[in-house]
Amino acid sequence: MNGAAPGERTLPERGEAALEVIPSGLSGVKMTPMLSQYFEWKKLYPDCILFFRMGDFYEMFFDDAVKASSILDITLTARDAEKSIPMAGVPWHAVNGYLGRLVRAGCKVAICEQITEPSNKGIVERKVIRIVTPGTYVPEEAGSGGRLAAVCRAGKELAVALLSVETGRLEAGVFSKGEAAALLGSFAPGELLHPASLSLSEWLPLVGDFFPLPREDEFFSPAQGTRRLLQQWKTATLASFGLEDGSPAAGAAAAVLAYLHETQFGAVEYVKRAHPLRSSEHLHLDVTTGRNLELFDTRQEQNGDAPSLYRTLNRCRSTMGRRLLREWMLRPLLDLDEVRRRQDAVGWLVENSGERRALRDLLGECRDVERSSSRLSLGTGTPKDLGAIRDTLYLLPSILPLCADSPLSRWTGGIADFTALREELCAALEDDLPRNRAQGGLIRSGYDAELDEWRGVEAGASDMMDAYVEKVRESTGISRIKPGYNKVFGYYLEVSRAALNAGEVELPGWFIRKQTLVNAERFITQEMKELEERIASAASEISRREGALFDGLTERTLARVEELQHLGSVLSALDVLTSFAEVARERGYIRPELNDGYDIVVRNARHPVVEECLTDSPFVPNSIALRRSEKRIALITGPNMAGKSTYLRTAALLVVMAQIGCFVPAESASMGLCDRIFTRIGARDDLARGSSTFMVEMVETANILNNLTERSLVILDEVGRGTSTYDGMSIAWAVLEHLAEGCGRSPKVLFATHYHELTCLDERYPQIENLSMAVKEDADGIFFLHQVVKGSADRSYGIEVARLAGLPRPVLKRAFELLQRFEKEEKCAAPAQHTGKRKEIPGVRQMTLFEPVRSGIVEELAAMTPDSLTPFRALELLYALVEKSREAIRCENLSSS
Ligand code: ADP
Ligand code: MG
Repeated sequence: MNGAAPGERTLPERGEAALEVIPSGLSGVKMTPMLSQYFEWKKLYPDCILFFRMGDFYEMFFDDAVKASSILDITLTARDAEKSIPMAGVPWHAVNGYLGRLVRAGCKVAICEQITEPSNKGIVERKVIRIVTPGTYVPEEAGSGGRLAAVCRAGKELAVALLSVETGRLEAGVFSKGEAAALLGSFAPGELLHPASLSLSEWLPLVGDFFPLPREDEFFSPAQGTRRLLQQWKTATLASFGLEDGSPAAGAAAAVLAYLHETQFGAVEYVKRAHPLRSSEHLHLDVTTGRNLELFDTRQEQNGDAPSLYRTLNRCRSTMGRRLLREWMLRPLLDLDEVRRRQDAVGWLVENSGERRALRDLLGECRDVERSSSRLSLGTGTPKDLGAIRDTLYLLPSILPLCADSPLSRWTGGIADFTALREELCAALEDDLPRNRAQGGLIRSGYDAELDEWRGVEAGASDMMDAYVEKVRESTGISRIKPGYNKVFGYYLEVSRAALNAGEVELPGWFIRKQTLVNAERFITQEMKELEERIASAASEISRREGALFDGLTERTLARVEELQHLGSVLSALDVLTSFAEVARERGYIRPELNDGYDIVVRNARHPVVEECLTDSPFVPNSIALRRSEKRIALITGPNMAGKSTYLRTAALLVVMAQIGCFVPAESASMGLCDRIFTRIGARDDLARGSSTFMVEMVETANILNNLTERSLVILDEVGRGTSTYDGMSIAWAVLEHLAEGCGRSPKVLFATHYHELTCLDERYPQIENLSMAVKEDADGIFFLHQVVKGSADRSYGIEVARLAGLPRPVLKRAFELLQRFEKEEKCAAPAQHTGKRKEIPGVRQMTLFEPVRSGIVEELAAMTPDSLTPFRALELLYALVEKSREAIRCENLSSS
């Protein structure tokens, strides 16, 4: 590969390849040297859009131009008069934004730079210097990017490797299909490498928006991968990283690294090791659960700022901190010691307000050292990135003493000594650094003698030039000589036509005429030329020397990239912990007592996000008690809008918060560690998700029942809502029975339902506790107290809710009549069931065959807010109701026949 960097494709002998790669149908195109150079590179990167540097622009031609102009919404022009060469271009200084948009659309871009200066001999040489892809692109500005993943088979399971190109962190492990899907879903890679023989739709259905990258099977070979990794990291065994030599996880890890190698032409040095990823180390949250619990604002892409747990907890002051908070939230801990260490730190920060404030201010000034050192390692960094590292190192001597004798020293203790590097960077670099190094102004004066000398020459020469012009004026007696400069012939002297015509001047023989203008003549002199050369050579020496010094600084900084990455991770942790302390202080959170038991007992818990959003009325706290050996299943009934879902989510959010080390909104909390949280939220709360909701609902319910463990927390909110009431209730019933019986496992369950029939199950299963939402009724109607009370709701208040929602009076009246009639009919048909509490536990319930269908329709009507419906949605709902009524009538006929 004659000295080419790894991954780099090399050109064939010049000229030989050019003609054969002209796109067919383009025989009319006149081949120029530039075009033939273009085709040579394009042929090597047919899968990429080629960004062909031409002066201040990156130009694209032919199909690339057509494609990019439509994605980027830029003008499509033509290179030639015949319009046979479509062309589009973007200015180099704005290239990052355009690259971001192209990779988000799934394109790969090959950057072909000019590598020689333009001159009048032949054309400029060019070279592809790197490939930008959806998984490897790290945007300059904050924002997510640079996430790459690989999967391959590990027997019946999947090996997964995740690489954050942004921070250089590589993780790998083996997981069940479901776990792999959850992991990938939350990691959200831009690209996913997989063996071509592994069908993604079969192995990982329902996983996110990444771009798949199928590769030949050998690319993932565990044996070869292990060899490559050992070579890369110069170690004897991967066991030192917690990975097994020759394992599929090593194969997957090697694959992501190889792809980075390929696209970044070998710049993978900064990935210093792999970390083992084990499913048993984290509380498992699948993508649906994350969405149901509103952990993050899912509209992040549009910079949405809707309420979410992340938004509530995020008081971070740095981008690094915000990134880590997200990671912690996606992977709550199962390690009690680690949780307690975080809690100790948060507790200390809550107590010590002075230190907390000082730390927050300092962290707010810290820059993203993780991203900057990665970008410098990848060769895409700018002087600003080195400046970011300098600025952050500069703050360290203020940060460290604040943490020294506190639980925070557990994090800061491991920070390397950066004194020498800090001093060097501070002494060498200018305060304000340019984005583009060619602009100069990188190195302070007084740092390097040679640079200072050239700067002196440059400054001196300009002074000498001024003095020279003065001398010429005196010696020629022409006071109206003006000096000037242009690109074509450099410095010149200008004498105005008026002065020349006045006849008062006699031009000396050593004036060399260069240009005649309407109003003036321009001259140069030998002495001026010499001075000019000195200035020019000083300028180029300055830029050469600055470049060399800057490269040296970058190199010495990158020699410590691993320590810098560690520094970044410590600063991010400090930021998140301080953020936790800040919210805890502000919103009165308390430290939960975590233990390895199985019970969750919380006094007066509040929903962290709803609490924050309520402005008119205070949030009503409710207690939670789920005990493995007593009542571990809470069955909650109550009318719509009474607060059932909020109560369920509160429990789950508190578990997440506690296990990331955060304090919780409650009066006291004692919580056994949870290893999984499963949620299933009934279809109607989830309208955005399309029509096959029932199927989705059942797939998700099956997933819960098949995967739950002794330590799981299960949140089921209105299961069965997605289908007809009759089916729905039967399923809800069976699911609850199954959870109660447990199959040897006794998960904690919160189950909200509007099927009152289920409340009789507490008689058969002592582990079920009936809870309901308190409702106050008076002459004006009903009020929701949002209070959870023991016992089941006595009725559903559907019609009252409908009244609150503003349903027209005649409809309410008619609904009320119907309700009374149904209740009477039910009483006649099954008198035993309505004598107080239902004693019989029905196997198949004959009577409820049609009643629930009808009351279901009423409830559905009750839940509607007609004013907020679009006409189309209203029509849709009407169709659905008609369909249901017909079904009810069919049922009625069936049961009476
Ligand atoms: P349900 O699931 O019973 O239909 P939700 O849990 O969706 O009811 O709650 C409906 C609304 O009631 C919430 O959006 C919130 O504004 C309010 N709410 C719920 N619980 C409480 C509470 N404990 N304190 C105050 N307001 C609450
Ligand atoms: Mg609800």
